[in-house]
Amino acid sequence: MKRPINHKALAVLVALAWFALAAGSSWLMVDGESIPLFWVPGALAVAVLFSTPSSERIAYLLGIAAASIALSTFNGTSPPAMIGYALANAAEPLVVVVLAKRIMGRRPFASLNLRDLTLLFMSAVLGGAVGSVISSPFQDVGGWEPGAWRILATSLASAVVAPLLVSLFAWVNSRGAPRRGETRLLPTGFWIYALAIFALSLLVLKTSIVSLTPLVLAALVFSVVRYGQLAASTGVFAFGVAATFQSHGGKSPAAFLDFPQIQSALIVQGLMLLMLATCLPLAALLMRHNRLALRLKARNARMRENLLMLNMAEEIGRIGRWRYDPRSGAQDWSRQMYLINGLNPARGRDPGDLMSLLPDGGEELFSNLAHHAKDHARYSFEYRIHPPHSDERILKMHATNEFTPTGELACTFGVVMDVTEHHQRQEALDKERTRAMRLAAEAQYLAHTDPLTGLANRRRTITQLEKCIRRAQQGDRALGLISFDIDHFKRINDENGHQVGDEVLIRVAELARNQARASDLVGRMGGEEFIWILPDVGEGETKSAAERLRGAVEEGSREGGLPPVTISVGFVLWRPGDDVGSVLAKVDAALYAAKAGGRNTVQDAA
Ligand code: GH3
Ligand code: MG
Ligand code: MG
Repeated sequence: MKRPINHKALAVLVALAWFALAAGSSWLMVDGESIPLFWVPGALAVAVLFSTPSSERIAYLLGIAAASIALSTFNGTSPPAMIGYALANAAEPLVVVVLAKRIMGRRPFASLNLRDLTLLFMSAVLGGAVGSVISSPFQDVGGWEPGAWRILATSLASAVVAPLLVSLFAWVNSRGAPRRGETRLLPTGFWIYALAIFALSLLVLKTSIVSLTPLVLAALVFSVVRYGQLAASTGVFAFGVAATFQSHGGKSPAAFLDFPQIQSALIVQGLMLLMLATCLPLAALLMRHNRLALRLKARNARMRENLLMLNMAEEIGRIGRWRYDPRSGAQDWSRQMYLINGLNPARGRDPGDLMSLLPDGGEELFSNLAHHAKDHARYSFEYRIHPPHSDERILKMHATNEFTPTGELACTFGVVMDVTEHHQRQEALDKERTRAMRLAAEAQYLAHTDPLTGLANRRRTITQLEKCIRRAQQGDRALGLISFDIDHFKRINDENGHQVGDEVLIRVAELARNQARASDLVGRMGGEEFIWILPDVGEGETKSAAERLRGAVEEGSREGGLPPVTISVGFVLWRPGDDVGSVLAKVDAALYAAKAGGRNTVQDAA
């Protein structure tokens, strides 16, 4: 847990620091007429306000104004100028920070783009101009120099030194650990460059060899290329420090400048701003480039992961990937595609000529591809292959086409699966289904059929009779019913054996069936007793049918070497109100009457 910051106490400390830095600068200017580091206290004000929440800024502003008044008192400045300086010294950093916060939002300094940096630079200059306008009416000294001095000092303070201080504060706050998206403050190379720029600047400013000036700029540019925005500020600051050293003791800050000291100092500070204005755009572009490179790297890493997952999915799902360029014939096979085709994946990405794999000379594969060559939607088809060391396999390809901007087929991507087992399973399933259907039909037949004679059994006969009665009832139609029974059948069995009895039963059934129409039904009710249902048949016709049947059995049973038999026949016509039970009872009674009447006769119901 961080302790909350005591802003009032800190404001006092900042005011003291500001006073010390400003007094030091004044002392340098007054006593040595050297180029004062006036922008250092200004930068402190900017950096502190920038790092402070807006609600707490007033304490710091008051502190800085008080420190400014103290300094003026110390310097013996007139009371109006004292107030003017205090107002200006407080207003300048406030203007710069409010604008900077608007421009930067929550982004760190190192990630700003060119536009943001230009705006920041302009707000630094604007801050200086505001201070200059506020203080000039109260000023003791005349001329344009103090105003220009203030603008330059504030610009340098805000653009060069303040970013360094803000970074330093952030670094101290995070206890030295670099935060995400921020440059580390202390790479060794960074400081080597700063020292080199300082040494070169000192050399250039001391020796009056103007041609050496580009060396400073070159070192600055190299430093910026390697370390970005912060290196620009540090390099320019190093140059300023060198100029301060050079100007110590009342010398011109640059030996090659043949102007009065104050003007030379202005020129040098202008030069510093120019250097910054040259380097910042470069740094911004570079940072952008670095960010893009980082993003690209991250994207590549993600793509690699995706590919890894895809390969794993292909391996587990046994799915092959295939890319085909119909114009050049070039192919690209994934590892799994080789394995599906029974080939060694070490052959490279293009398997070359496929013909030895395709049993039909490529007919299925290539005619399908040609058939779908204009398809924009996904399509699929199956084709057969003959791998070198196994039986023929069936492959299924799901494919999609890609077209050139002119609408020409550019390439086909396919996903390939081995569906041989699926086909085999499907075939076995089909066979099993046919067999089951046949068995079900057989079972149904057996459930309804008398196995000896092939006629409808009792259950089916009764169901059919029910149906015919319902139809006769609904349609007001006729329905005839004939019942017949073999005479003295017991004797046939007894004399010829059960086997012959069975054959006689089959024969009688066949003779009866021959008499029936397609719409009739002849059924075996049990033993040697049968029923013949005649829908839409009236009384006379039923009677003649019964007579015909009796005659047919008497005649027919003599043929074929079986013992001849006769049948007794009863018949009845369905009457409205009759149900299955009553109509069967009536026809049974008729049959009984026929038996009683001497057998081999036809009798109707009483
Ligand atoms: P009736 O003229 O009065 O009808 O005399 P019947 O002998 O035909 O009648 P009964 O009911 O006395 O005998 C029927 C015989 O039919 C008895 C039985 O052994 C025989 N039977 C019943 N079902 C079968 C069969 O499936 N096969 C054979 N071979 N005989 C059967
Ligand atoms: Mg009988
Ligand atoms: Mg019987």
